[in-house]
Amino acid sequence: MPLIYDRVALIGLGLIASSMFWAIKRHRLAGEVTGYARTSATRETAREIGLCDRVCESAREAVEGADLVVLCVPVGAMGEVAQEIAPALKPGATLSDVGSVKRDVIAAVAPHLPEGVHFIPAHPIAGTEHSGPRAGFAELFEDRYCLIVPQEGSERDAVARLESFWQGMGALTEEMDAAHHDLVLAVTSHAPHLIAYTMVGVADDLRRVTDSEVIKYSAAGFRDFTRIAASDPTMWRDVFLHNKAATLEILGRFTEELFALQRAIRTGDGELLHDYFTRTRAIRRGIIEAGQDIDAPDFGRVKRD
Ligand code: NAP
Repeated sequence: MPLIYDRVALIGLGLIASSMFWAIKRHRLAGEVTGYARTSATRETAREIGLCDRVCESAREAVEGADLVVLCVPVGAMGEVAQEIAPALKPGATLSDVGSVKRDVIAAVAPHLPEGVHFIPAHPIAGTEHSGPRAGFAELFEDRYCLIVPQEGSERDAVARLESFWQGMGALTEEMDAAHHDLVLAVTSHAPHLIAYTMVGVADDLRRVTDSEVIKYSAAGFRDFTRIAASDPTMWRDVFLHNKAATLEILGRFTEELFALQRAIRTGDGELLHDYFTRTRAIRRGIIEAGQDIDAPDFGRVKRD
């Protein structure tokens, strides 16, 4: 397969960028991949583990001559990074990002971009609770969706090329507008993360249950919450601050449902609870049928003796 881009620049070298790099190399999607991270410690780690063909000392240097630049920094940092690199972007280059929020990122990035640069935001729906340059792996995007958010006037060729690039890394691609993206992700990712953070926080606050008991007797439900609640604090702070409206909308609905279930428990309305749980079970089946999870018990965790 021919290269999709001659030169790709990854700005930010954490979980997503490092996974992209290993996938680009495995599938030979680009010639040279340059990279830049904010701290010298991350740049050093990247050099040590061979992450990027060339690790640069500035974001501007990394994007010079690149055909595709991907911003892989926390959502709240996208605007300042775009401002910094804008004068160095090659005419005809594509600028994309992997941010978990789209409307605010577009508003922060678009005003800085020079004419002749194709701005095509994107969001791979794939991740783990690990972060940093060592966290990535080439298979992260396989069979996961990457949502592409073309802008008004985006050239179809540039969009198609970016989609081929993500497909080359194993992802399924779909186009979506930014407002819809933010609402969908508030339901499927952002609100669930906030709920997990809250539940783990509540357990931590329960002084009657000592820390050791919470850990020792942690059942599957709580353990799964702790995995989600171990996600990167900076990334998630930014997600909530920048997808405010949609997250608050979904949390409002969540609170109403929670009250309804709370009431059913108090009044002993077993039928309501049973019907509710039957309905929600079907969602799990749908996710498995869509190939987005496996049907193994306990998420296929291997039992230790
Ligand atoms: P990460 O592992 O924490 O890495 C973030 C990278 O951004 C680090 O290299 C960091 O550099 C750099 N950075 C942070 N602040 C910066 C700034 N102000 N200027 C320049 N660079 C800065 O994060 P990640 O999980 O890869 O997430 C990156 C993006 O992908 C975020 O926008 C996130 O919303 C999105 N995303 C994440 C997931 C997920 O599950 N993790 C999934 C899909 C999309 P230093 O190491 O030098 O500080």
